[in-house]
Amino acid sequence: MLLTPGPTPVPEFVRKAMADVTIHHRTPEFESIFGQTRELLLEIYGMDEVVMLASSGSGAMEACVTNLTTKKALTINSGKFGERFGKICKAFDIPYTEIKNEWNTPVSVEEVIEAIKNDKEIDAIFIQICESAGGLRHPVEEIAKEVKALNKSITIVADGITAIGVEKIDTTNLDAVITGSQKALMLPPGLAMIGLSNVAVSKIESQAKGFYFNLATEIKKQKTNTTAWTAATTLIIGLKEILSHIKNSGGFDALYEKTALRAKASREALKAIGCEIYPKSPADAMTTVYTENAPAIRKLLKTKYNVNIAGGQDHIKNSIFRINHMGLVEDFEASWAVNAVELAMDELGLREFDGTANRVFLATTFKGN
Ligand SMILES: *Cc1c(COP(=O)(O)O)cnc(C)c1O
Repeated sequence: MLLTPGPTPVPEFVRKAMADVTIHHRTPEFESIFGQTRELLLEIYGMDEVVMLASSGSGAMEACVTNLTTKKALTINSGKFGERFGKICKAFDIPYTEIKNEWNTPVSVEEVIEAIKNDKEIDAIFIQICESAGGLRHPVEEIAKEVKALNKSITIVADGITAIGVEKIDTTNLDAVITGSQKALMLPPGLAMIGLSNVAVSKIESQAKGFYFNLATEIKKQKTNTTAWTAATTLIIGLKEILSHIKNSGGFDALYEKTALRAKASREALKAIGCEIYPKSPADAMTTVYTENAPAIRKLLKTKYNVNIAGGQDHIKNSIFRINHMGLVEDFEASWAVNAVELAMDELGLREFDGTANRVFLATTFKGN
């Protein structure tokens, strides 16, 4: 059972759709698929424009840094992925300042406002919606609203790789929202997407930069349902399949509701057996537990209970475990995962097994408490 926060399992109907014969990317057949996928993406994003790139999520992060910073970037680092925005700036000699917090701590609205007040050069902010390194949720919408109220010309770029498809994101004040194929969108890795505001599109067009990741070129092409370079046809076919499926089986809101409930039930179940939830503001994409027994618990889950969950990275490599909630996870899978954690804790002599995790998970999911 794959319950890591990316990659997530690819549903069978998506795998089947992607197994059909290869079609050429410069054909009316593919342009039609591309156009339909674009429409579905615009709907899920609620934004003015969208581009699809043949790269993993980090490629879209790079494209946003290079295409949307004119003077100086502000990067928010509460984990590995926030840190990456800074590394990208460094690689391209783009000036940047960083707000750094511990990996369980979201940035505050005040910290961001103070930073832009103190440095008038900053014209783009880069932040994760969910920082997957510790599973925390940054208050991105509030930050964007306050920043725009202060200075409309500052571009807000949100990395929504573990947020788009997880929860409804208010993109009103966001200029670019990044996502990738292998997390909440349940596809194999290799496709990245960026939702864009009209303001972002104008900024990109006024200062076109780069070659492969030149977003001005991509926007121009993709408006006509084709891509600048060879499109990731198979993944786009898969994307159309999964997005139509979500739309036709209750809609995006139903998916967000189910995910939120699963996340809540998992958190409550784990708390009830004495687990410490790591982030101060947990995102619904995953549940992260802080414990020195993380490696031992993960090992038992994998070898004895057939559940593959993720550990941490860098300084918290061995002190957290992360259980995924993104995608079409069945209730019985999520329930089994918390149950397995309880069994593993029993085996490690941490707490005697009495079925609490399962009971709390099921009561929260089906009894509304
Ligand atoms: C997975 C992830 C990425 C980037 O991933 P790739 O490995 O390049 O696809 C970026 N940001 C967040 C928040 C992620 O979870």
